[in-house]
Amino acid sequence: MEKTEKDILNLEQALKYLGTTKPTLYRWLKSGKIKGVKAGQQWRFYKENLIEFLNSKEKEKNKLKIQLEALVDKFIGRLKEQGFSGEETADIINKAVVVKTGKTDVQEVKPGAGKTDVARVVNYIIMEGLSSRASDIHLEVFENKTRLRYRVDGALKEVEAPSRELYQLVLVKLKELANLDQQKKGEPQSGRFEMNFGGRRFVVRVNILPALYGETATLLLINADAILLKLDQLDLSPENYKSVRELLNISHGLIVFTGPAGSGKTTSMYAAMNSFDSAKNKIFTIENPVEYAFFGIDQIQVDPAKGITHLKALKAVMNNDPDVIMLNEIPDKETAAEMMRAVLSGHLVLTQISEVDGSAALVRLLKNFGIEAHQLRTSLAGIVAQMLVRKICPKCKEKYRPDNKVLKYFGKDPDQVREEFFKGRGCGECGNTGFRGRTTIHDIIIMNTKLKEAVESNIPAGDLRKIARQESRCLMKEDGWQKAIAGKTTLEEVMKMTKEI
Ligand SMILES: [Zn+2]
Repeated sequence: MEKTEKDILNLEQALKYLGTTKPTLYRWLKSGKIKGVKAGQQWRFYKENLIEFLNSKEKEKNKLKIQLEALVDKFIGRLKEQGFSGEETADIINKAVVVKTGKTDVQEVKPGAGKTDVARVVNYIIMEGLSSRASDIHLEVFENKTRLRYRVDGALKEVEAPSRELYQLVLVKLKELANLDQQKKGEPQSGRFEMNFGGRRFVVRVNILPALYGETATLLLINADAILLKLDQLDLSPENYKSVRELLNISHGLIVFTGPAGSGKTTSMYAAMNSFDSAKNKIFTIENPVEYAFFGIDQIQVDPAKGITHLKALKAVMNNDPDVIMLNEIPDKETAAEMMRAVLSGHLVLTQISEVDGSAALVRLLKNFGIEAHQLRTSLAGIVAQMLVRKICPKCKEKYRPDNKVLKYFGKDPDQVREEFFKGRGCGECGNTGFRGRTTIHDIIIMNTKLKEAVESNIPAGDLRKIARQESRCLMKEDGWQKAIAGKTTLEEVMKMTKEI
């Protein structure tokens, strides 16, 4: 068919017809989304091509909208399965609004910011995590699929993930909320925002990592109220509580918190910080990232991109007459040396190391951080080690007799064991696992003469660990035994968690 005058549009007419701007139109042209013909210096567009483009754009938008709605339906379905009514779900989603965003400077988000569809999906993703007591949420993208998983009581549970197109939008929204750079694609980024859920405040820490098929996101859900526990809320046995108090009463020295990743050692360290009187002591924390804003404490956010390393921050703190310093990690030997200078010049320093138990942390301090044995001998006060174990579901808890093999693991003679033990039979409340929630088992080392001598005697790591274990106030295994007798957890669970130590 012969094209007439009105079927061919010039640039100005095409812009008007599409309702867009020049740069956008050029972008569409460049990416081949729209067809145009160059006549000399002038662009010409066939109207039918523009109509085709608008239709496909509309279709794309509709496709996303349908996907979004289907996904939201699925979230609502799963929340209903958890016992929420439709009304409650609507109520929660309306209330589960982001309250603060940002890396370090938290700012209020304007009302209405959570109203768009993608924001709703982000809300649901986080809400499902919070309502199922997940500790973290994983969004991943692969060649042919995307994946959404929740970690509940240590185990990962997969649910239907957003489509690839939605996944990208969700990531953009998460970055916006966490105040991250949208353009930066090739390097890890992390930030945080806060949410209200069921009347509680949660910190959502967002970690973005570049992967083979695109960026992945890990969301750590941190109950802001749980971060600030008091020492007596850490589920320490009475003896261990006394030992920790004893440690924190010293005026100067080094106290180390240890445990595997995700064992709650930061919560314990915060509880320890929280026990100091910030009116009488000048307290500094050096953290990456700052997890919780304390009142009356100077918190320094480490930001290597801006040149603020742990080492630099520590040196700056030392010029400000501190009493107590909390260093959330020891990244290298230089920082370890500076930390020891702080301790040896009469300050109280709290830090943490990721290790399986107290004896392993002691060896690591001595062998990996280049700390001199005599320095460690004079300054290390003690090590608080911990590990999480699953708690027996209260709804299906029942008495049982553990295997003799299990009793022997705890060093007991089965014929002599008179105590009662419990386990969960498995029920709807606990997803048939017999467990619900987690508690902590501890291992506390307070440096005594024998340990100090061992530190300075340059014995092999294995021997040092053995002595440290003998001198521990209460090993995790023993603490676990006590907690099993108290009906909090099972012997098998303690055995599984402590076997590798
Ligand atoms: Zn149960």
